[in-house]
Amino acid sequence: MREACCFITRNERETRGLALRMAKFLKRGDVLALEGDLGAGKTTFAQGLAEGLGIEQKVDSPTFTIVKEYGGQIPLYHMDVYRVESPDEELGLEEYFYGDGICLVEWASRVKPLLPEETVWLRLLVQANGDRHIQLISMHPRSMRLCKELEGK
Ligand code: ADP
Ligand code: MG
Repeated sequence: MREACCFITRNERETRGLALRMAKFLKRGDVLALEGDLGAGKTTFAQGLAEGLGIEQKVDSPTFTIVKEYGGQIPLYHMDVYRVESPDEELGLEEYFYGDGICLVEWASRVKPLLPEETVWLRLLVQANGDRHIQLISMHPRSMRLCKELEGK
């Protein structure tokens, strides 16, 4: 998979801001797969996304529950699959991935075989100076479209 576009955020607020902006372009059934080390900003991104979707509840890490559901104009399913050892575990995640909401999956590569083809992959990379590089890395048309919208093209 190659990079479709990349954004640099200098602090937590900017990462939230990028996600908030992206939220406006998302639709039911979209799946965002987030990759990045612990502390890279995946949950921060989820918080901005929730805000952009008009969700008022506090979004925190779903590590111990795997899925947290938030009701907005469009429901948000926030997942952290760090603890999932194998995609074969009977977790019922496909119901969410192919459901009527927007999914954001932290550590998504752990369940890669379960994810829809049009999944939008985001890679969060921590730079030496603390900036984050946030790459959209799928070449699927859905990702390309989102890049264009985010870049205002
Ligand atoms: P993850 O879910 O990837 O483990 P979190 O979003 O929980 O990461 O935590 C990211 C941490 O990094 C927060 O403490 C946040 O304040 C800090 N941080 C510093 N710079 C940034 C940035 N540009 N984007 C996101 N978080 C940042
Ligand atoms: Mg997290």
